[in-house]
This record gives sequence, structure tokens and C-alpha cells, in this order.
Amino acid sequence: MAKNLYFFDEGDGSNKKLLGGKGAGLCTMAQLGLPVPPGFVITTEVCRRYYESGGKLPGELMNEVGAAMQKLEKLTDKHFGDLNNPLLVSIRSGSMLSMPGMMDTILNLGLNDESIEGLAKGTKNERFAYDAYRRFIQMFGKIVLGIDGKKFEEAFDGHKHKVGAKLDTELKAEDMKEIVRQFKQIIKEEKGEEFPNDPNEQLRGAISAVFKSWNTKRAKEYREFYKIPHDLYTAVNVVTMVFGNMGPDSGTGVAFTRNPATGKKALFGEFLFNAQGEDVVAGVRTPLRIAELEEKSPQLYQQLIEIVGKLEQHYREMQDVEFTVEQGKFYMLQTRAGKRTAQSAVKIAVEMAEEGLITRKEAVLRIEPKQIEQMLHKQVDPKAKGQIIAKGLNASPGAAVGKVVFDSERAKEMGEKKEKVILVRPETSPDDVGGIIAAQGVLTSRGGMTSHAAVVTRGMGKPAVVGCESIKIDLNKRSFEVGGVTVKEGDTITINGSTGEVILGEAPLIEPQMSVEFEKLLSLADEFKRLQNWANADYPQDAKRARELGAQGIGLCRTEHMFFEEKRLPLVHQMILAETEEERKGALKKLLEIQKGDFKGILKEMNGLPVVIRLLDPPLHEFLPKYEELLEEVIMRRMSREKPAELEAAEKLLKRVEAMREANPMMGLRGCRLGITRPDINEMQVRAIFEAACELKREGRDPKPEIMIPLVGHVNELKVVREQLEQVARKVMLKHGVDVSYKFGTMIEVPRAALTADEIAEFAEFFSFGTNDLTQMTYAYSRDDAEGKFMFKYIEQGILDFDPFQTLDRKGVGKLMRIGVELGRGRRSELEIGICGEHGGDPESIKFCHELGLNYVSCSPFRIPVARIAAAHAALRAGEAEKQRYL
Ligand code: ADP
Ligand code: MG
Ligand code: MG
Repeated sequence: MAKNLYFFDEGDGSNKKLLGGKGAGLCTMAQLGLPVPPGFVITTEVCRRYYESGGKLPGELMNEVGAAMQKLEKLTDKHFGDLNNPLLVSIRSGSMLSMPGMMDTILNLGLNDESIEGLAKGTKNERFAYDAYRRFIQMFGKIVLGIDGKKFEEAFDGHKHKVGAKLDTELKAEDMKEIVRQFKQIIKEEKGEEFPNDPNEQLRGAISAVFKSWNTKRAKEYREFYKIPHDLYTAVNVVTMVFGNMGPDSGTGVAFTRNPATGKKALFGEFLFNAQGEDVVAGVRTPLRIAELEEKSPQLYQQLIEIVGKLEQHYREMQDVEFTVEQGKFYMLQTRAGKRTAQSAVKIAVEMAEEGLITRKEAVLRIEPKQIEQMLHKQVDPKAKGQIIAKGLNASPGAAVGKVVFDSERAKEMGEKKEKVILVRPETSPDDVGGIIAAQGVLTSRGGMTSHAAVVTRGMGKPAVVGCESIKIDLNKRSFEVGGVTVKEGDTITINGSTGEVILGEAPLIEPQMSVEFEKLLSLADEFKRLQNWANADYPQDAKRARELGAQGIGLCRTEHMFFEEKRLPLVHQMILAETEEERKGALKKLLEIQKGDFKGILKEMNGLPVVIRLLDPPLHEFLPKYEELLEEVIMRRMSREKPAELEAAEKLLKRVEAMREANPMMGLRGCRLGITRPDINEMQVRAIFEAACELKREGRDPKPEIMIPLVGHVNELKVVREQLEQVARKVMLKHGVDVSYKFGTMIEVPRAALTADEIAEFAEFFSFGTNDLTQMTYAYSRDDAEGKFMFKYIEQGILDFDPFQTLDRKGVGKLMRIGVELGRGRRSELEIGICGEHGGDPESIKFCHELGLNYVSCSPFRIPVARIAAAHAALRAGEAEKQRYL
């Protein structure tokens, strides 16, 4: 028969599953020799049996509890229900994972009409004793007997009113006695029976109530939201009461062993003289900062320092503790790992590694990639004093400033004019995605942490405050109202998605802070990772930023963005629309010079590191005006009959554009297909790359261009294009008389390429999985349509578990990648393989790429820090899994 309960000096403090977090902590502290009031833990297993038997305490339990109480009486030399020296206990819940505020604690159990005398005598404070008694009856009535708490509050307020007291502290012992009488009366009226005077009956009721509180609606909802299993159950801790409210040499406090906001290594917390545990958090009186305690009572402070020091050494982790001082004697009531901000977590992990308290590996593993993500968002300057007008749920971190708009169309219009807007809606739907993209951030008055607005903004990395119910939106008037303030469309607000605050006007934002510890942590991560982190960057300044953030190469330099720039677009038009060979060559020549400059810039920034440059990929008509717009122009001009020359030009252009129209551009004339039908563009680009590289080489630098041919589906496409382009490259190098180290390779983004990767590897020195297109083609989803129209529904209905454009789909797309890697490396063992979709910055996808044995993952520069940590975690966790296999 398993033991149902453990005294603090015998329970296994490492077994949180059995004893709950609170119970395990109390056991550990007791066994470390720290002052813990005597007590015992009833295990989570008992709670399981309670539920399995349909809500009955196991038969033998109360006998065992009875024996334990006798032992407790011996230990404390007090007696349960005693007239002179009563033993009082607290009954506290505590599960393996903490669920703050979700379950109940009952204090001062054991008080009854006899022991109240003992307490009053023992403390020489009748008022205090009766105050404790009325609190106990109230808690017991509410939690154990299920009476509406309002009944007690009304009676309490009623008496206060009657005697003309404003504050609770003005009530005298006599008043408390009267309130006790009234509370008992309430219980009798509500339940038809007396308040149980027998402490054993109180105990039994309280234990059942703690078990019951595991399955209240709010506790269940909390677990569902935080994905905490429902079958962990709660333990019950029976702890001898100690009193922090027995005079000036008593008090109670909470403390963190390090600063939970900044991570600074200094005790942080609060202390309240002459108060009970809950008074500190309830904000009745303003507590002292722990630093002030040092001045007021150096002895207590010294004890606290010693105790928490021991705890940190033992747990090798920052602790959050509750303690009480009873007439100068110190008692520890709780310890647990302290919650902290991302910034604090990083500093603590790095410093603990430096102190030798934890290993460097542990330091890296303690920081989740998600926390790094949080640190990379803009924040509201903490020194700013804005007017906070409302507070909602902090659904997606970061801060944003913008003009309020109430519909997505308007957001898009203003977004196109580069105006900063905040989309304010009662809630959002898939129709709003365009508006969300155009906005700096989103504010909704309805919906929770998993509402559409919350999910979509988190995916995009945009700040959002949702479920901000205090704002009353009037869509017709285009304004919202909150606390007497009216905010109209066009007014500026700031939202703080990290705290849920809505601030009137423009609050100053600060760039994310890269602390020294942050840099150190990332360097530590680099020691353990096997995957390299490359960046997707199209411009020299992006490449520079990426390199500063730790990029080890450029995995994707898209050249089409370079074509879109204002000064270049006319040249691009000329090149596409040229009617004579001469005209076309002229345009290409000018573009060559410009592109050479682009490539020189980026290769220079990445000196010594590989730069994968993708040749022109999109269909050419993307660079021309839209067909519909041209058509409209032609019609207008025809009607106006003015400027016939311009009409003619427009008609000509319309014809050309019409000829280039495609039924499905995504699968049309683009990528290597374009390169095969229009080799001149590819040749120009390769010439530009090698001219740039050769010049750099002659300047004594070390450029490493890698030419990437997009959208290959058949080996012959690659073969033809590569042969032709490599000749161009050789000619340029010959002309300059230098050798550039280069590679030719391809993007694997068409399923057929993955399936025939062995043939393709024959002509490619590298593969780069274009996981975005590969996902589109594998699922036959066009990303924009999917995310705008049905992706959210799919996820909501559980058809898909996640958005495959954000996290790589291992089963389908991943299988193609695995085939691609195996076939490719089978033919060419030194084949360099990476990915260049945004998946390269997603921790889950990075893990998969590590498992596949890729050489690198490439993502946007700003996600590089997250990706570095994720790569290290993938390597360290893979090691763990391996170790376990051998055990
Ligand atoms: P929570 O999980 O909400 O913190 P606790 O079980 O820790 O609930 O108890 C609530 C408050 O009562 C805390 O301030 C705690 O320190 C205090 N408390 C609990 N048990 C005792 C006790 N035996 N003696 C004195 N104070 C106690
Ligand atoms: Mg607590
Ligand atoms: Mg592509």
C-alpha cells in the first residue's frame, strides 16, 4: 500500500508529481535544515483516488490524518481545538505545475469556540484572535460549505456601517465577536446546520474542498489554456500556522533571490511588519522594500540572505519565496522557481553559468527561443509617462503607435500611403488579414488569447491587445469610448502588447535592448549548435545587420527587389518591352552596371562568407503595370480623345501585357523557365556577380558567391542553364585574371526536384530548400489565398494542427526534404544543403532541419538570434534523446 501522506522531513522533494510543487518545496526546505513550520503533505495520488471513486475520501485516509495530527501536536506541543494552547493549521493546495490563484488555501483551521480563547490568551490580543476567527469562518463557509461570499461581505459591511467604522482597523474586539456571531448565523441559515465546532470535522471538510477545487470551471479552463494535463491532480499541505501579526517583532514577506525584471543579483521583494501572509499581496498597507528591511532589522535580513542563498545553491535556480516572522523567529512557507521577464532570464542564466552554479549547456537550455523573440520587439519606454486609458489581454508582444482605424479597408488604404495605423475592431475575422498586415498593431474589445486577432498577430510578430472589454466601440460613429475618453478615427494611440495596456497618444518606443548577457548567451549557443545560421538579405545594409546578429552567410539574396526600385523600373521596362535587339542590349548594359554595384555591396559586407544569390525568379509581367489598370487607362483615353500619341503608347503596352498574361502565374513562365526563354537576363546577372567578385578579389577581399537557379523541376533545366552561365562566369574571371571560389546550385521548391534530387545533384554543388514554395506546391495552397481565406478555419476546426507556412510540415513537405537530402547526398556527399524559407527562423522547423542533417538554416536578419538559440537547442536536445536511447 502506497503512503498517503508524508511529513516534511520524509517526503522526496524532487517528486513534484506526487507531492505537488508546494509540498515538494516544503519537504526540500525542511530537509535542508531551514526553519519550516511542521506539517505534512497528502499526495496527489489521494486526489486521483478521490476523483476515481466519484468524490469520496479514501476510507483509511482520515485515520492516517488523525495520527499525523497527533504527531504534529507532539512536535509543536500544542493541541488541536485546545482551550489553552491550540494547534492551528493551514490547508493549502499545490499541484505539480503552478496554477496561480486557481485553487484555495484555508488559514487558521482548528479555531472554534474553545480554541479561540486559547489564541486570545496566547497572543494577549483578543481583537487579533477574533479577527482570525471571523476570517476562518468566512473562508470555511465560502470554500468548504459553498456559501456565496457576498453574504459574509454584506454582513461585515453592515456591521461596520452600524458602528460608523470606515476602515476594518477601526473595528474592536467586540465588533469582531459580533461579526463571528452573525457569520455563524449565516451558515445556519444557508446550510440548515451549525458551523462545525469539531476541528476534525473542519479538517475533513477542508481536505475535500481542496480536492474539489482541482476541478472548478476556472481551474479547468486555466489548464486548457496553458495545456496542463487534467490528471496531475493536487496535493494537500497541512502546515502549522505561524503568525506574522503578533506585534512589532513579527511580520511577513515575499522575496525573489534575484530581480525578476532585470535579473540583477540582489534580493528583491517586500516585507510587512505585523501582518499575515496575504496582507503583503492584498495591498492593504504599503510594504517595505527588502532593502529597507536591511536597515530596520539587520538580523532578520541576514537570516533571509542566508536562507535564500542556501535555496539557490540547492535548486541552482532563482527562487521566489514566502516567509513569516513570528516574534523574531523566522519561518519559510514556500519556495518555487521564480517567474521572470525574458531579459531577466537571460541575465540570470548567463551569470549562473559564470558563477559555476550551472553548466554552460544548462544556461543555453534555460532560455526558450520564444523568450528571445520577446526581447526583439520594440517596447514602450519604461520611463515614459503616458495616459493609460484601458487594459486588455497581452496577446502578442511588442509595442506599436498609430492612428486609430475601424475597418480593414481603411487600414489598407492608409497603409499604402505609409501611414501608421492601429486596427481597432470588436474582433477580427479572416477578412481582416489584409488590414492586420497593413496595421502596426491590433486592438480588439472581444476575444481571448486564442482569438483570431491574437493568433494571427502572434504569427506575424505584430503587437496586439485583445479582449479589451472596457473600450466601447461605435463602428457607425467611428470612435471608441473608455472611462470618459473618446478616441476618434485618426487619433493616435499606443498599444503595448507585452502588458495589454492602451495608451492615449504617442508613447516613446525604444528599440530592443541587446544586453551584454544577451550577446554572451548567443555566443554560448554557438558553441553547441551544429547547424549554421544564415540570413535572407537583399541589400548590403541588411547583410550588415545580419552579420552583426551572427549570420554566417546569406542563404537568399533575391534580385527582383533590386529591379523594383524607382530609378531602375524604367530600365527593366525597356529590357522587357524592347522591340529591337539594340534597345534591349542597351537596357541590359545599364542594368548590368547597377547590379554589379548591388552585388559588390553585399559580397563586401559578407567578406569571407558565402552569399547565395538567386537569379531572377518572378514572371516578367510583375514588373509591368497591371492589365486591368492599363485597360482602364486605354478606355479613358479613348473616350477623352485627347493626346492621341499617349493613347497609342498605352494601347501598345496593353497589347504586350495582354500577351504576357498567364492563367496561373505561380506555375507559369518564371524561375529557370524564364531563364531558358530569356537567357540574356540571367547572363547579365551572372556577369554582374562575377564582375563584382573579381573586382573585390583584386582589392584583396574574399567574395564567395553561390549562384542559385530557381524553380528547377527537371535536371535538364539545371543542366542547360548552368552550362550556359558557367561559361559566362569563366569568361569574366579570365578577363580579370583572377579565380573566385564560387558554387552553382539550385533551389529545391518543386516536388519533382526533391524526388529526382540524385539526378539534380549531378549538376548542383548546393541545394536550398525553398520551403515556402515547396509547401505551396505540396499542399496545392497558394499562401496568400490560404492565409487570407481558409487557413484560420482549418486550424480552428482542427483540420490542420498548425499553419504549415509558419512551421514546417514534417509529414509531407518534410518527407520530400528527407528524400531530397538522401538522394542528393547519395550522389554528391559534400553537397551543401540549407533552407531559405522563413521556416529558417521557426524553432520547431529548425529542430527538424537539424535532424535532417542540413548545413544551415536561413531566415530574416531580425530572427537570427532566435534561430541561433533554436539551433543550439536542437543540437543539445538531440544529444539528450540519444543518451536516453543508450540508457
Ligand atoms: P498561494 O498558492 O495562493 O500563495 P498559499 O497556500 O501559499 O497560497 O497561502 C496563502 C497565504 O497564506 C500566503 O501568503 C502564505 O504565505 C500564507 N500561509 C499559508 N500557510 C501558512 C501558515 N501555516 N502560517 C502562516 N501563513 C501561511
Ligand atoms: Mg503561496
Ligand atoms: Mg520560389
